[in-house]
Amino acid sequence: LENVNKSFAKIEHDTVTHALHNISLKLNEGEFVSLVGPSGCGKSTILKLVAGLIYPTSGRVLVDGKEVKGPSPDRGMVFQNPTLFPWLTVEDNIAFSLKVRGVLKKNDERLDRMLKVIGLENFKDDYPRQLSGGMAQRVALVRSLINEPEILLLDEPLGALDAFTRMNMQDEILRMWKQRKQLVLMVTHDIDEAIYMSTRVIVLDTNPGRVVDDIKIDLPSNRD
Ligand code: ADP
Ligand code: ADP
Repeated sequence: LENVNKSFAKIEHDTVTHALHNISLKLNEGEFVSLVGPSGCGKSTILKLVAGLIYPTSGRVLVDGKEVKGPSPDRGMVFQNPTLFPWLTVEDNIAFSLKVRGVLKKNDERLDRMLKVIGLENFKDDYPRQLSGGMAQRVALVRSLINEPEILLLDEPLGALDAFTRMNMQDEILRMWKQRKQLVLMVTHDIDEAIYMSTRVIVLDTNPGRVVDDIKIDLPSNRD
């Protein structure tokens, strides 16, 4: 991100929210970066900018030196409240993007592998309404991971989970990241989670959103 500013107009109140003020960040392959800070400091806005879902008011967002022009399967995003397709089974939800891109093979072994990773082999023919919250969240996560995105954007993916499922999911995400060493950019409210999972924690503050700290973390949990 180069000198990124992002404002949102509130037409009905004739006001403007300065969500991000002059943010410059260089994020590298292999890093697991957490964004922390008070509610409204612009964490989700940063993820959406990198995802290509919104555009900066000024400044530039670059991936591999190219300006982000829109969403791409290279940048997978997992939202806080997963939205699975209710009319598709677990397996078809996971396969969806491969199918759309025309890269789904017959008896694609990636599907079985992903179902195993999240421990839902026996639920592959179930529909989202038959799943618990934690199970649905795991499906949403591997639905993004199966595209092997170069950049994985996680917007509080574990916020709604109970403590036990949350710990399991933290370790699952870490295991996947250690295998692939892509860039992970994760928003979390939980400082302990940020320190446990990340190689780098970026602290933002609000009014307007800006970076106030950028800390390298070196713990056994995030070493090779
Ligand atoms: P965080 O994720 O840190 O809680 P957000 O990035 O969601 O913060 O929001 C940052 C600021 O931008 C907040 O003041 C929020 O109200 C505002 N904002 C975010 N998205 C929009 C939008 N689509 N329209 C108007 N204001 C928005
Ligand atoms: P989570 O911790 O993932 O939210 P729960 O505590 O709700 O999951 O459920 C615990 C276990 O119960 C799950 O791992 C699953 O094996 C089983 N389970 C949950 N919901 C259902 C369901 N709708 N149908 C069948 N089994 C279920």
